[in-house]
Amino acid sequence: MKVVYEAPKINTGVPTTYCGGCGHGIINRLIAEVIDEMELKEKAVLLWPIGCSCVNVNTMDIDQLCCLHGRGPASGTGMKRANPDNLVIVYQGDGDMVSEGMAEIMHAAIRGEKFTVIFVNNAIYGMTGAQMAPTTLLGQNASTAPGGRQVINSGYPVKMAELLAELPGTVYSERVTVNTPANIIKAKKAIKKAFELQMKGEGMTFVEVLSMCPTGWSMSPVKACEWVDTNMTEIFPLGVVKDETEGLKQQEEAAK
Ligand code: SF4
Repeated sequence: MKVVYEAPKINTGVPTTYCGGCGHGIINRLIAEVIDEMELKEKAVLLWPIGCSCVNVNTMDIDQLCCLHGRGPASGTGMKRANPDNLVIVYQGDGDMVSEGMAEIMHAAIRGEKFTVIFVNNAIYGMTGAQMAPTTLLGQNASTAPGGRQVINSGYPVKMAELLAELPGTVYSERVTVNTPANIIKAKKAIKKAFELQMKGEGMTFVEVLSMCPTGWSMSPVKACEWVDTNMTEIFPLGVVKDETEGLKQQEEAAK
């Protein structure tokens, strides 16, 4: 029988601990598929954050590192500088990156560190009990904002893909989501492009993935997929925010 679909080769078969309907599992799978397709198993290093994903270190058969809270970009800096031929992937959630680790990611982008950041934005602290995150939407309920986030108390949701795109050290920044099959395909293309650019030695590559957290949002998995479209994408629009590689391509063509 012809095999038309199978688990990524680097998957160990160990089940993840994510809740049903969580976007993390889809994103993890896309990363694994791209590593397989690019035949980078021996060169890939995945740096996990503190958050729901950090206990899934046994699910992929590649080198991995569990980082201190928010410090993935600092660890990634050392990892990539010491091993420039490696594919270094810094995986972070919104609490880990934008709250605890805001200084780390900003300075890594300012320095133009040449690794890829996969930023999982589900607009809430999932692991610790649905507290408000820096990316929580205005009016969105959280356990620490029972009436919904208010500007007067907490300011505005942070748009990381746009913020980092402002820095010259970031060569590629795109926002995608995994709430429909069509969007999953686009998300995979963005992740693959980021990895390819990293392996060419470009600057920081950043992919923000809007992800479902049905548990933290107190809704069904189906409703959570819809909620991404009806609420999140208005504040966090999908698409390429910055792509300096077009200029590089033109330079390459002109040099031929
Ligand atoms: S709490 Fe949210 S982010 Fe964490 S595993 Fe469950 S659905 Fe996913």
